[in-house]
Amino acid sequence: MAEVRISKLRKVFGAVEVIPELDLTVPSGSFTVLVGPSGCGKSTLLRMIAGLDQPSSGRMQIDGLDVSGKVPSERGIAMVFQSYALYPHMTVRDNISFSLRLAKADPAQIDARVAEAAEILQLTPLLDRKPKQLSGGQRQRVAIGRAIVRHPKVFLFDEPLSNLDAALRGQMRVELMELHKRLGATMIYVTHDQVEAMTMADRIVVLNKGRIEQVGSPLELYDTPQTPFVAGFIGAPR
Ligand code: ADP
Ligand code: MG
Repeated sequence: MAEVRISKLRKVFGAVEVIPELDLTVPSGSFTVLVGPSGCGKSTLLRMIAGLDQPSSGRMQIDGLDVSGKVPSERGIAMVFQSYALYPHMTVRDNISFSLRLAKADPAQIDARVAEAAEILQLTPLLDRKPKQLSGGQRQRVAIGRAIVRHPKVFLFDEPLSNLDAALRGQMRVELMELHKRLGATMIYVTHDQVEAMTMADRIVVLNKGRIEQVGSPLELYDTPQTPFVAGFIGAPR
């Protein structure tokens, strides 16, 4: 488990200030959902936590360590994207083990990690299949498996369910919440869907134009929205 602590984070793209100044602490072991309308800076924030993008200024700590200048593989994080491009020519097993093989991990450890991830995600009977032989939900599980094998302290999800149909999305939400309970890892989950946020989060961060409008439990946001934006956004029909 690991806390993520962000202070005075700023991000500009050219002349555009996407995140003016952001302070946020994500508690260790929480399922924290970053929610806000399209274009408000959710992906930008997540990519900076991952180390895929550099802040213009500010500080960031993961598990007490300053991660400025650290590449993604040094941060103890793993990220799952919306478009989970699997390697089409590789089996499920090889897709899941790819990062460990790249890091030249011990083969016995690779086998054990893959077996563990497959068991958690109910992929054990499918390990020898290729992605094209899988359903959408199974492919998404493989993408999550690629994150799990790395034993990250922090999981980062960027709208991972938005390409799935409604029924599958509902099922995957439950599976991700169970995964969180089982692993106890810190999870930061980005979505523009307020219903998804309310269902899954133990803590919600509402973003608007790169600023935090409110942080609280789903019940707190629902009962006592602190700004008209939060009230409108949380209460809006989908
Ligand atoms: P969200 O994920 O909340 O939809 P993003 O973080 O993707 O929003 O984008 C926030 C804002 O930053 C948008 O206005 C977007 O156009 C801009 N932006 C994102 N990435 C870049 C980039 N690489 N260069 C210029 N502008 C960008
Ligand atoms: Mg985004």
